[in-house]
Amino acid sequence: MESLHRVRGFEKIVEPIRLTPQSKFVFQCYPGVPCFKLCCSDLYLPLTPFDIIRIRNFLNLDTESFLLLYTEPFKLPKSELPIVCLKMREDLEKTCPFLGEGGCTIYEVRPLACRYYPLGFGLFRNRDEGKNEEFYYLVKEGFCQGLDSGKEITVEEYRISQGIPDSEEPILEWAEIIMKKESLGPIEVPEKSLELFFMVSTNPERFRAFIFESKFLDIFEVPQDLLEEIRNDDLALLQFGFRWLKTVLFGENLVKKKKDAPSVKKAKPF
Ligand code: SF4
Ligand code: SF4
Repeated sequence: MESLHRVRGFEKIVEPIRLTPQSKFVFQCYPGVPCFKLCCSDLYLPLTPFDIIRIRNFLNLDTESFLLLYTEPFKLPKSELPIVCLKMREDLEKTCPFLGEGGCTIYEVRPLACRYYPLGFGLFRNRDEGKNEEFYYLVKEGFCQGLDSGKEITVEEYRISQGIPDSEEPILEWAEIIMKKESLGPIEVPEKSLELFFMVSTNPERFRAFIFESKFLDIFEVPQDLLEEIRNDDLALLQFGFRWLKTVLFGENLVKKKKDAPSVKKAKPF
């Protein structure tokens, strides 16, 4: 899968070495480090669907306002799937909108890519073992003085220290969709399917309205207890959305269509 990491100016300075959870690297970062905050400007910073929910809740905003104020659309280069990135400020350094005097002002809910830095991660299909596996790599940027100084740490220890497993688990199925789309190569995907992917990936309120206010429930079978869950719980909505995307994008039949159901095209999302 195309890797999810953040880098300045979209330049990739990626170590071509695939790391495992047990791989070790040397790194330390702390508020007094001479390069403090240098890594928080002029960034390509992709947001996962879970990042959006967490940051939006932290800022007490509805999704539409959050997207308008803080993000811009972005097409993933390999899969060509549309997502959003954080929109940098229009100052000279193009700083992150959440960078304050003392550092990150949304530290508790900082995006997954920020938690990983200076690592990036991707997903690949291990065909021999029939399962998806994550891989990691170092993103080496010259200004970062934390690299190769400090303590040796394993990738897994670093992931745990940054609270990554809790932020990543809810979106593994989303990462799998990106990986699958990428593995299909440069095939033409209908505009409508890209719109559906974008809606589920960026805007839970719009997706919820699509389920309950369009012809969606005339087309798809959704058990009543699950409907109640997705009406009230954004995470349950996301998990359902990822299974539904696999159904409409790859024909996986994870969300069953009703007998004699009209085409999905009849359920207009917007
Ligand atoms: S969200 Fe926080 S950690 Fe990430 S780039 Fe912005 S200020 Fe830095
Ligand atoms: S050590 Fe690296 S990650 Fe830490 S503030 Fe400096 S540039 Fe950023």
